[in-house]
Amino acid sequence: MARYRGPVCRLCRREGAKLFLKGDRCYTDKCPMERRPYPPGQHGQMRRKKTEYALLLREKQKLKRIYGLLEGQFRSYFEEAERQKGVTGENLLILLERRLDNVVYRLGFANSRAQARQLVRHGHILVNNKKVNIPSYLVNIGDEIAIKEKSREIPFIKEALEGIARRGVPSWLEMDYDNFKGRVKTKPTREEIAIPVQEQLIVEFYSK
Ligand code: SF4
Repeated sequence: MARYRGPVCRLCRREGAKLFLKGDRCYTDKCPMERRPYPPGQHGQMRRKKTEYALLLREKQKLKRIYGLLEGQFRSYFEEAERQKGVTGENLLILLERRLDNVVYRLGFANSRAQARQLVRHGHILVNNKKVNIPSYLVNIGDEIAIKEKSREIPFIKEALEGIARRGVPSWLEMDYDNFKGRVKTKPTREEIAIPVQEQLIVEFYSK
């Protein structure tokens, strides 16, 4: 599956917000957003008034980049969210949050969603005791997500689990650290999704 392969810190600088795409580095003063919190490029430091369209576009790009998706994939989630009952913006966030790579990240098996996606792709993740190597797989209530026994010694999984105290596991998931597994307790609600975006602006963007 296609994905963005360029420098990810540029994406944070473009969006003017820390998107936490690089794991541990994001929590240190090596984070470029701490030192150069302005857009990349020659004219990055120029003051420019944002148009309304630019505001909506940036919000959409921010969410898309947090979850590491390309435009086509993101658009499909939006269309699915529109088809569902309820508030489209919230539906969109809940769908994205239920992706397996995101859940692996949220449980603390990886330091970033990109790392979590790699774990899934390489077959290290079991869902209800069966190998699932599709990062976009949507988890359901009651699903059990575990690291394959043979993969538990991978150094970066251990490091990530040590660092999870900093982020914490969201309340819609529960984690059993001793057995390298977690469970989906409930469907996430908007309040439980700690993502700094205004989803109604994204709905507005697509309705233009
Ligand atoms: Fe973004 Fe993390 Fe890079 Fe900082 S270190 S700019 S938060 S990806």
